[in-house]
Amino acid sequence: MYAGLIVDITGGKLDKVFTYRIPEALVGQITLGMQVIVPFGRVNRQTEAYVIELTERCSYDPAMVKDIIGISPKGVAVEGQLIQLAGWMKEEYGSSMLQALKTVLPVRQKVEAVVRKRIVWQMPQEKRRLFMAGLSPKRNAAQLRLLEALTEDGELPYEAVTQKLHISASTIKSLQTAGVIRVIEESQYRNPLSLDLAAGEDLQDGEEKDFQKERSENSAVILNDEQQVIVDAVVEEESRGRHGTYLIHGITGSGKTEVYMELIAHTLAQGRQVIVLIPEIALTYQTVMRFYRRFGDKVSILNSRMSAGERYDQFLRAKNGEIQIMVGPRSALFTPFTQLGLIIIDEEHESSYKSESAPRYHAIGVARQRAAMAGASVVLGSATPSVDSYYKCQIGEYRLFTLKKRAVKTAHLPSVEVVDLRTELEAGNKSILSRRLTELIRDRLQRGEQTILFLNRRGFAGFMSCRSCGTAIKCPHCDVSLTLHRGGRLICHYCGHEVPAPKACPSCGSRYIAGFGIGTQKVETMVTEQFPGARILRMDADTTAKKGGHEAILSAFADHQADILIGTQMIVKGHDFPKVTLVGVLAADLSLHSSSYEASERTFQLLTQAAGRAGRGQLPGQVVIQTYSPDHYSVETAADQDYESFYEEEIPYRQMLHYPPVYAMMTILFASKDEQAAERAARAAEALVDRYIDRWRQKGLAKREPEMIGPCDAPVSKISDIYRKMLYIKHVDRQVLVTIKNGLESLAPWQQERVDVLVQYDITG
Ligand code: ADP
Ligand code: ZN
Ligand code: ZN
Repeated sequence: MYAGLIVDITGGKLDKVFTYRIPEALVGQITLGMQVIVPFGRVNRQTEAYVIELTERCSYDPAMVKDIIGISPKGVAVEGQLIQLAGWMKEEYGSSMLQALKTVLPVRQKVEAVVRKRIVWQMPQEKRRLFMAGLSPKRNAAQLRLLEALTEDGELPYEAVTQKLHISASTIKSLQTAGVIRVIEESQYRNPLSLDLAAGEDLQDGEEKDFQKERSENSAVILNDEQQVIVDAVVEEESRGRHGTYLIHGITGSGKTEVYMELIAHTLAQGRQVIVLIPEIALTYQTVMRFYRRFGDKVSILNSRMSAGERYDQFLRAKNGEIQIMVGPRSALFTPFTQLGLIIIDEEHESSYKSESAPRYHAIGVARQRAAMAGASVVLGSATPSVDSYYKCQIGEYRLFTLKKRAVKTAHLPSVEVVDLRTELEAGNKSILSRRLTELIRDRLQRGEQTILFLNRRGFAGFMSCRSCGTAIKCPHCDVSLTLHRGGRLICHYCGHEVPAPKACPSCGSRYIAGFGIGTQKVETMVTEQFPGARILRMDADTTAKKGGHEAILSAFADHQADILIGTQMIVKGHDFPKVTLVGVLAADLSLHSSSYEASERTFQLLTQAAGRAGRGQLPGQVVIQTYSPDHYSVETAADQDYESFYEEEIPYRQMLHYPPVYAMMTILFASKDEQAAERAARAAEALVDRYIDRWRQKGLAKREPEMIGPCDAPVSKISDIYRKMLYIKHVDRQVLVTIKNGLESLAPWQQERVDVLVQYDITG
């Protein structure tokens, strides 16, 4: 037996794998993730290393391979657990061990600490006036300028002093030496939270603790009966040493977050740690502050705006026990807590919990595995649970809890109306706003309340096509239509290819060529025309592209700097807008007719969540859903805010067509710049799977045979000149698919291809 080892797991050299022999006496004792001691380098210095793979054979000359000396007495470090997790992910989702390791292990980077400096008074209040009176307006003009600004603002950012007030570093220095002012330096990365909090609050060192204590005591609420039932049940199971997976189905505002916090408090009291996953888009200041208010600087956050170094630093703090709660997106799952007790996944239905690159893991699956390894529980929460999780409750894999009412009595459920867009057209209304929605918007403008208009699509218009021959203008590098943007630019949303919109059809020369569909830019133009006095904000991928754009727009709207917010799905998350009493969904159909088997589920979720934005404050909310398919069950059940009915309609369809979650499904992508090579690879895979099935049949093993579809073109058959072919395999038992994947991986019948073929697996359900 041989073991693949890595010696330095944080140096970014994960791909340096060294092969060692496992001596007879240790065979069977050495497992993945274990720390061992090996002779390393030319002088055979005894070195610690991690086991990342175990193999029967060795591709080197056995005489050259050294023996492992022994198992490290340090036991399994948290990194060892993460390596085991990587091994599981590689197996379960399909990837190389290296890809899996890079996903789970934090890579050490030089941390570029962003130092934020601010200037505050050092001199006691009583003496300041006297001191300033003693300065000469002529000779000490700069000092006076600084101290006057400081009197006014209480504290000043260092850069503002040097750049805006034009005060030199030496002036600042001399005031500092004289004991008049103090320069406080804080490394931004040390605690991404406390800094935001400290801004504006001039605390003395001693005061800080009391202040936090006060916060944590004030912020806990008394749970209502529905909430308490959940906490009691989980705590009870925990006390019996059972670590389950729980789903809290509760409408927005029903108090899920308060339940999470109570469970967190309970976990911390046991000396254990907590990971809280929140979709990046909902990871707003407001959300994070709720955790901070209750748990103070036990909390840290991760987000994609942090550099690799900053993330590494947060991981280090977790490992050293400086923090107990990590809040973040998917990647926060790999926080190296040594005593992990609880993983919470809020908005568990969110598609961002699924990784789009190998290993294409789902956060829920990995969370359950990590929890199983650590002896921790998993709590999922959503107003619109994924069909997958709800199904798992039905078959007894998870335990379901329901919160039926909003926690704050004054908050009401919004009333929802569905408007049939076909009758609008018949009545001669060509606007994208139905008559009803127009009327309600006008009403809100008069009352000084706010409106959200929601469109699940960005850009000025959809694609551009010829009205004579029907040709749509496509990207030359990708198999998608180009999207028309303001200023007459056509842009590919897959590769960024950009051209001016043509004046005539490139195919037949006709001049009847125009944009189809609607986008946020166009909605903005039309709403501005219809309501000239209204203040309008638009939020989509284009307006939020710059750093902080997302937050800035939401805050401006929350401050009532605009009457109407137009946006794509990113506006349905995060912020609370108490003054929003009207939500208009402009075209519910946009997400209904996609090719994915999840189209109905996504539509239901989007509509429900959009509706949930109305009436979050004291004022009751109204929702208008515009659609061409008013009878579709996704629209009907969303209008009734009735998840159970939606689920009852949806699950038979999944059952009938053998889709997840009833069946497990593996899609295999074959991508190559040579279309023939991709095609041949897919066919070779198909033939191999056929042989497997035959063999199982002969042995009488295949009670139910896997179903195979393809090879065929991927939904987007070409991206950036890379051709993409797909093979779909379905089976009730996920393990059968994993076995097939392993077989394909080890034989890789496309290896002989002379052009590179990338093969990527994706297993769901
Ligand atoms: P969700 O996470 O389900 O959207 P939250 O936990 O954010 O719901 O609760 C919505 C609002 O109701 C919050 O302002 C919260 O503080 C408040 N709330 C929740 N539970 C209670 C309770 N038991 N008593 C008083 N207020 C509560
Ligand atoms: Zn044409
Ligand atoms: Zn393109």
